[in-house]
Amino acid sequence: MIPDAVRSFVEEQPVGVLATYRADGSARQGVVYHLLEGDTVRVTTEGKRFKTGDVSRTPRASYCVTGHERPFPCVTLEGSPFASSPTTSARSRRASWSGSSAARWSNPSPTTRARRWIGWCSRSTSTVCTVLGTSTVPERPRRHAAVAIVGLGPVGAALANLLGARGLDVVVYERETDVYHQPRAAHFDGEIMRVFQSIGLAEAVEPNTATIDGMHFVNADGQKLFGFDVPPGPGPNGWNRDYMFSQPELETTLRAGLARFANVSVHLGHEVDSIQDHGDRVELIVRDRADGSTHHIGAAIAVGCDGARSLTREVIGTELFDYGFDQPWLVIDTNLRRPVELPTVAVQYCDPTRPATFIPHGGRRRRWEIMVTPPDTIDSAQQPDRVFELLAPWVTPDDIEIVRATVYTFHALVAKRWRSGRVLLMGDAAHQMPPFLGQGMCSGIRDAANLAWKLELVLDCRAGDELLDTYQTEREPHVRAITETAVAAGSIIQTTDPDVAAARDAQLIAEPGAMGDGFEPPGLGAGALSASGGALLPQPGRLDDTLGSDFAVLTGATKPSARARAFWGRLGKILARPAGLESWLGELDADTVVVRPDRYVFGTSRDSAGLDDLTDIAATRFANGRLGIGAR
Ligand SMILES: Cc1cc2nc3c(=O)[nH]c(=O)nc-3n(C[C@H](O)[C@H](O)[C@H](O)COP(=O)(O)OP(=O)(O)OC[C@H]3O[C@@H](n4cnc5c(N)ncnc54)[C@H](O)[C@@H]3O)c2cc1C
Repeated sequence: MIPDAVRSFVEEQPVGVLATYRADGSARQGVVYHLLEGDTVRVTTEGKRFKTGDVSRTPRASYCVTGHERPFPCVTLEGSPFASSPTTSARSRRASWSGSSAARWSNPSPTTRARRWIGWCSRSTSTVCTVLGTSTVPERPRRHAAVAIVGLGPVGAALANLLGARGLDVVVYERETDVYHQPRAAHFDGEIMRVFQSIGLAEAVEPNTATIDGMHFVNADGQKLFGFDVPPGPGPNGWNRDYMFSQPELETTLRAGLARFANVSVHLGHEVDSIQDHGDRVELIVRDRADGSTHHIGAAIAVGCDGARSLTREVIGTELFDYGFDQPWLVIDTNLRRPVELPTVAVQYCDPTRPATFIPHGGRRRRWEIMVTPPDTIDSAQQPDRVFELLAPWVTPDDIEIVRATVYTFHALVAKRWRSGRVLLMGDAAHQMPPFLGQGMCSGIRDAANLAWKLELVLDCRAGDELLDTYQTEREPHVRAITETAVAAGSIIQTTDPDVAAARDAQLIAEPGAMGDGFEPPGLGAGALSASGGALLPQPGRLDDTLGSDFAVLTGATKPSARARAFWGRLGKILARPAGLESWLGELDADTVVVRPDRYVFGTSRDSAGLDDLTDIAATRFANGRLGIGAR
């Protein structure tokens, strides 16, 4: 029997405690998760699982587990690894694990989220976590983390903020010492601002943004072929539909946001040279570029946010699906020296002699992207005199200062595999698209929002690791649809045959509206969703702030069953449906909506039985039966 004192302790510390056990005289350490299963305690260290039948408490506030099925005499549980204060750095927390002070039993609140660390539940041992990086690792890693992020571009920085806010122990390695100073992305959409809202940075980001009135496609004579106008005011995400911004400024804000999290440590000027998946952990070899020293880093998961030339992608060994789009464009960023009459919309100049894009970037910033066509070459197009010649239809050298003029070759590529074991890819490492829709970085930030909550559930032993596979199944179709639309836009703009261009113009002018009202990102692919899921929940006002960062069930007339209340209560909250969603739910003929932490709809239901169905689906899809759902 498990004594009441031990039982109540374990119930107070449901996530995990550090165990020291002795096998053949050598001390090892491991993590115990979900200790109580009826009258037994389960312990896993390095993948070995011990079933025990008896627990007793020693006077020094540690617990001795006896009655093993295996010939190990004792498991001594010595304290919670995250009992230290939330302001203690992750590194010092780690150091405290080896001590045995009874104070470490104290509850890790108020940031109970800071308790998540290096284990994860494997599918076959859904009630326990395998321990990572113990004394048996041949070369002892200098640092262990739950998640190691490779690369601190905008996507790595977004992911680090998302995981930091969830309390995971995160380590980030970035090769460069500074934010990449050249402007690249110029546009993000309302969904991305909503992700910034979720990490508490929307207010910091917004002042450095500008609005835009739309995007028009015009022919060589300046005649509008089609276009999209952006209605003013908030869109369905509760924020403006579109924002113009400067990528270096945004990245600076995202990096500053990381300073809020003691559980996120960032190492600039550190290049990841290798990533090895050992099955029970990943090990990174990281080189400090200042002094050339190398360090071994252990983590439960590695996420490659390391851009187009990703090392992580090589480690995963995936091929790239290539849409065959490889076109050099000269990208010219400028600052206006004086007021100049220029469009307030982005303009795609579908001129067969010189395809070009104009982007009112916000403030004094204006960008032109000009396709490199003969007789220009990549070299000649970047020469200052030639740059001004190319800009002559719009501005003179007195009007602007050139910030940079660089040729980029735009690609359309999607990695075939985004995960291998404990290693995952996101952002440009996983997919690249031409920038005609301004969606490359947006897609990477959507990846981060999709994966962050799944990592938390898996590392927290509340879901099996198969949940991580839904990251690609959900995100890849979404990314592909956007990439294909960007490629289609590119092929309209990039037509250089005058006859084809003339036929195109005639058709588009004859059929106004044929290109639709604008670009709307699609829903998610199948994964951790019910059949009625996959869309984004609209955000009336700042609803997300009320929903919190976990699941939310928003009910109308439906009275959730006890089972649904217990299940969803463990994953998040159940709330009375706030005002503002009536017409959206009406169109779906639904009363209740279950929203995931990334604000995508898990599913909708009409009544209590329908909510029970969603509960069942959720229990199998991502809760691995661990969340206490009983049989119907
Ligand atoms: C001209 C242009 C216009 C664009 N316009 C838009 C737009 O309007 N909207 C939009 O959404 N997107 C746009 N994009 C795309 C956008 O810039 C990229 O999608 C975005 O930068 C990708 O972010 P990332 O974090 O995945 O990769 P990156 O920004 O490339 O960051 C990767 C980071 O990883 C680091 N790194 C790499 N290897 C290692 C290693 N081994 N160890 C440690 N660190 C490593 C790198 O130093 C880098 O900091 C545009 C791109 C271009 C070129």
